[in-house]
Amino acid sequence: MSKKAFRYELGEDFALRMDAEDPLAVFRTRFYNIPNSIYMDGNSLGLMSRDAEETLMRVANEWKTLGISGWGRGKIPWIDFGETLGDLEATLVGAEPGEVIVTNSTTVNLHNLVATFYEPKGRRRKIIADELNFPSDLYALYADIILMGGDPEEDLILVKSRNGLIEEDDIIEQMTGEVALALLPSVYYKSGQLTDMARLTKAAHRKKIWIGFDCSHSVGVVPHFFDRWDVDFAFWCNYKYMNAGPGGTASLYVNKRLFGIRPGLAGWWGNSRSTMFNMETKYDPAKNAAAWQIGTINMFSAAPLEGSLRIMGEAGIERIREKSLKITGYLMYLIDEMLGKAPYNYSIVTPREPERRGGHVGVLHKEGWRINQALIARGVIPDFRPPNIMRLAPIPLYVSYHDVWKVTQHLKAVIDNKEYMKFKDERSTVT
Ligand SMILES: *Cc1c(COP(=O)(O)O)cnc(C)c1O
Repeated sequence: MSKKAFRYELGEDFALRMDAEDPLAVFRTRFYNIPNSIYMDGNSLGLMSRDAEETLMRVANEWKTLGISGWGRGKIPWIDFGETLGDLEATLVGAEPGEVIVTNSTTVNLHNLVATFYEPKGRRRKIIADELNFPSDLYALYADIILMGGDPEEDLILVKSRNGLIEEDDIIEQMTGEVALALLPSVYYKSGQLTDMARLTKAAHRKKIWIGFDCSHSVGVVPHFFDRWDVDFAFWCNYKYMNAGPGGTASLYVNKRLFGIRPGLAGWWGNSRSTMFNMETKYDPAKNAAAWQIGTINMFSAAPLEGSLRIMGEAGIERIREKSLKITGYLMYLIDEMLGKAPYNYSIVTPREPERRGGHVGVLHKEGWRINQALIARGVIPDFRPPNIMRLAPIPLYVSYHDVWKVTQHLKAVIDNKEYMKFKDERSTVT
């Protein structure tokens, strides 16, 4: 699937041929594509599918017709909604039923898992993270260390990047007897670099370090094997590649070896269902990952995920990954061959090796911000991360090879016609 293994061509006819042979092309009409645009931002907010709309509307209707009895009589009883969707999603991440729960937001799940697994003791007090992680994760870790009585300036290790990437060797080197926990991303939100989670887990466990991954940028586009890799915990966002809607309820995974450990942030929704309504003063946590729930599930934020999971199940994560590698490889090929040199000067920050990249391509240009605006004016929806990286995500379920070909023609035209110069250099807050 790498650039070498697969022969791409520059012409438009090649894109059309690829689309004609694409087994996932049938899924495009399951989504609401935005008219007159090419949506390349599904790594930030996935598009709505008809399936997600249907499950959302069904739950709304259950509320209308059942009122409170929806908790027990919804098509999927609401009381078990997080567990049921978690079991469906477990197959996507190489987990068993009971190990995945749909609950809370990504950052709240991070706090709960860190509150559970970060136990500073003696000289083992540090947390390993890295300087390229999504800021929310670092803000949370900083706060959690303070909450545990530590000093984040001392106890938070931020592994440094080299040439915009984080090397696994550099992370492993920092895994010393002073480290209690490692918390790392699966795919870096800017560069699209995919980390070797199996290798990092093995290295952490050798040093008796707990390890968890933020898989927000990989679930739904990259296969995961949490059980086989033996990771301790993971959490992720469902509104990116999982297409579950803005602010959609997030997920977490806890390895079954660790069931029974007390969640750091307890609440009644994590109580065992059999004793939940006894309203005892003593907390009786569920016997699996469900224990890491806190409060009542946000039904309307979780309902679209049911429809999304149906599509994912039909498409299959292996086929999604196969197309994702091909189509991102194609995008990189077109940029390299057509737009790599003057006067275009686009370059790619994403690693080339298939095993080192996720579902989006980071494109660097010193005029990135203005080019990004010029693309939007042309109906391309990319996104931008400062100081100068545009992210382009050809989502396998709804972006075609022809779309990618067209995007590269737009990248070319905004420079040929000097269109980007019409835009101001200063940034607004919404990207
Ligand atoms: C998208 C994303 C989040 C989002 O967190 P929310 O709590 O949903 O706002 C967190 N971490 C990473 C790495 C992300 O990519």
